[in-house]
Amino acid sequence: MRDLLKIKTNLIGLVGHPIKQTYSPFIHNLALKIKDLDYYYVPFDVDSVNFKKAVKGIISLNFIGFNVTIPYKTKVLPLLNHLSDESSIIGSVNTVVINEGNLYGYNTDVNGIIETLLPYKNDLIDEVYTIFGAGGSARAVIYTLIKHFKPRKINLINRTEDRALNVKDIFNEKMKFDAIEVLKLAPPDLVDEVQNSKLVINTTPLGMIPEVDDAVVNSEKFFNKNQIVFDLIYNPQLTKFLNFARQSNAEIINGIGMLIHQAAKSFELWTSEKFPIDEVKSSLEKIIKENN
Ligand code: NAP
Repeated sequence: MRDLLKIKTNLIGLVGHPIKQTYSPFIHNLALKIKDLDYYYVPFDVDSVNFKKAVKGIISLNFIGFNVTIPYKTKVLPLLNHLSDESSIIGSVNTVVINEGNLYGYNTDVNGIIETLLPYKNDLIDEVYTIFGAGGSARAVIYTLIKHFKPRKINLINRTEDRALNVKDIFNEKMKFDAIEVLKLAPPDLVDEVQNSKLVINTTPLGMIPEVDDAVVNSEKFFNKNQIVFDLIYNPQLTKFLNFARQSNAEIINGIGMLIHQAAKSFELWTSEKFPIDEVKSSLEKIIKENN
């Protein structure tokens, strides 16, 4: 009877603010139910003044781990006892495992990105990529691309240029990768740069529900049929950005696979059990559609 919380039930938390848009409780509790594991995943909407106290409370209450989401993915770092290699380079953690009171931080977005792009690996080696956005998920994307896909050059385009320049410096220093070019371009030059990229990725929230008419590009002219175009957004499943790419017959990928695979890695870190990818993915796609 997994539905009943017991004294011995293993608890996993989620800390963020706001969290009303999150699908993580749905994803994890469904997976735990399918696997019949005596764990429960509990979301906490925590104000920034209470963030440290909330983490201490989670430790005191014997949780076995927790997810960290916006705006705490960086703020959690000083509270951790151990940092995985990828999270130390990216500077952001989304998953914490608690073991004997010690906190171990990981960035499982990397696994979500690897699994999403792995089917295209042969097409991506030694090619030019363009990334829109320079926040936490852009750093996870760039780390993964450098580590696993051998980019020739990465164009980085961000609203705040300084932030993009900072990201360029981080990867130059920490991964000795010196082929990030920060672009501040408007069409038609920007169209050419994007057109000449094998892989184009949106890591900004532009186009996310409810602002579905927004996009980082404004026409299908940016894309062509030889490209792979990935939007990290999963709600809606077809953003305006992806729709433009589809009109130009590019291969399009939304953020659902990344969301599922990052959750799968976190789940495995907490439970040491295999995550039921296919069952959870189809239920998630259905519920996102129903909620819109
Ligand atoms: P973040 O650290 O806050 O970074 C957001 C980036 O988007 C920044 O570079 C920001 O530019 C840019 N941006 C924000 N609003 C913009 C606007 N109105 N116009 C132009 N640029 C804008 O956020 P994040 O953690 O990287 O997350 C970004 C997106 O990825 C979200 O939509 C999130 O849902 C999605 N995501 C998906 C998954 C998944 O599993 N599929 C995982 C993680 C994140 P400035 O530097 O100028 O502020």
